[in-house]
Amino acid sequence: MSITFADLTTMRVGGPIGRLHVATAAEHAVELFRDADGAGEPLLVMGGGSNLVVGDVGWDGTVVRMASDTVEVDGTTITAAAGVEWDRLVALAVEQGLAGIELLSGIPGSVGGTPVQNVGAYGTETSDVLEAVTVYDRETGAVERWGRDRCGFGSHRMSVFKRSDRWAVLDVTYRLRRGEQSGPIKDPVIAERLGIEKGGTAALADVRAAVVAQRRSKKMVLDADDHDTWSVGSFFINPVMPDGEIPAAAAECPSKPDVPGKTKLHAAWLIQHAGFNPGYGLDWGNGTVALSSRHTLAVTNRGGATTADVMKFAAHIRDGVAAKYQIRLNPECDLINCSY
Ligand SMILES: Cc1cc2nc3c(=O)[nH]c(=O)nc-3n(C[C@H](O)[C@H](O)[C@H](O)COP(=O)(O)OP(=O)(O)OC[C@H]3O[C@@H](n4cnc5c(N)ncnc54)[C@H](O)[C@@H]3O)c2cc1C
Repeated sequence: MSITFADLTTMRVGGPIGRLHVATAAEHAVELFRDADGAGEPLLVMGGGSNLVVGDVGWDGTVVRMASDTVEVDGTTITAAAGVEWDRLVALAVEQGLAGIELLSGIPGSVGGTPVQNVGAYGTETSDVLEAVTVYDRETGAVERWGRDRCGFGSHRMSVFKRSDRWAVLDVTYRLRRGEQSGPIKDPVIAERLGIEKGGTAALADVRAAVVAQRRSKKMVLDADDHDTWSVGSFFINPVMPDGEIPAAAAECPSKPDVPGKTKLHAAWLIQHAGFNPGYGLDWGNGTVALSSRHTLAVTNRGGATTADVMKFAAHIRDGVAAKYQIRLNPECDLINCSY
């Protein structure tokens, strides 16, 4: 049987793949990109499939799955190929006494995926530690080395790579700090797990263990036997709105400043206060899709869901929030060949 996106994504939905290639080195990937573009083939680049939902029709073209696997440590910088599993890199940094990414433990996906949506958790983001990326530009055919300032980080979970198929990330260099202790832990829940005051520090390995334990309690660590983790993590992105344009109905929603002049609202709060509690959905529709029992931002496949089921459920949540708060929730994950 041919491989489908349901086999390659953490939401476990999605149809057939025209031609699947696994790129085991950057040069191999570039060759595959040039071949596909030269032949006028639609091209989709993917890593771990943990932030991707593809329609039941699948992708009638080439898919390049990044599986390049080299890691080089040079003093306090680590350069990892796009295909390296992100959490393996975090574990390696912690083992080697390199601080800076321990709070990003337990996040699925690849190194190449981290700049795409400026992956972040518990007060750390990729942009805090990213020093450079090597990219392939599909428009010019050039391989380029970029500094952090070209990546377009700024607004929540955004970058130039997000929703653009022009660039493929070949490798990423992270600048870390030598030391056995973490930086200040700003997240109160992680601080509490570590038994320290907010703003205190802890041993890197302890921080990693605390983060993984916290993520597990929220079903945010992949587990094939647990449908609560059959997701893309947060399906919906925290809405960012111009200051002063937040509807009165949402005045009580927790918020934080985003880029100057904009405010980021708490999507999980909006969902829950619109009446969708954790676990909502088992009695709705055909019951194959529901919110995670621990996390209202995670739309989960309870087994047997199709992409159409996922999208119907997501639209139902979106419409419920819009009806109560006049705010449209948008997806954080990348949707390919499916309508929202
Ligand atoms: C259980 C769970 C928990 C999660 N928790 C978090 C979290 O705490 N914080 C967070 O930020 N995210 C989280 N995520 C989302 C996800 O893990 C990240 O977005 C991750 O970086 C996606 O990487 P990937 O390799 O799986 O990307 P894919 O899903 O394979 O691809 C996602 C997008 O990136 C593009 N892409 C992937 N690789 C490349 C590349 N080399 N070059 C160019 N484009 C590329 C794809 O084309 C696609 O558009 C979670 C997901 C799950 C399932």
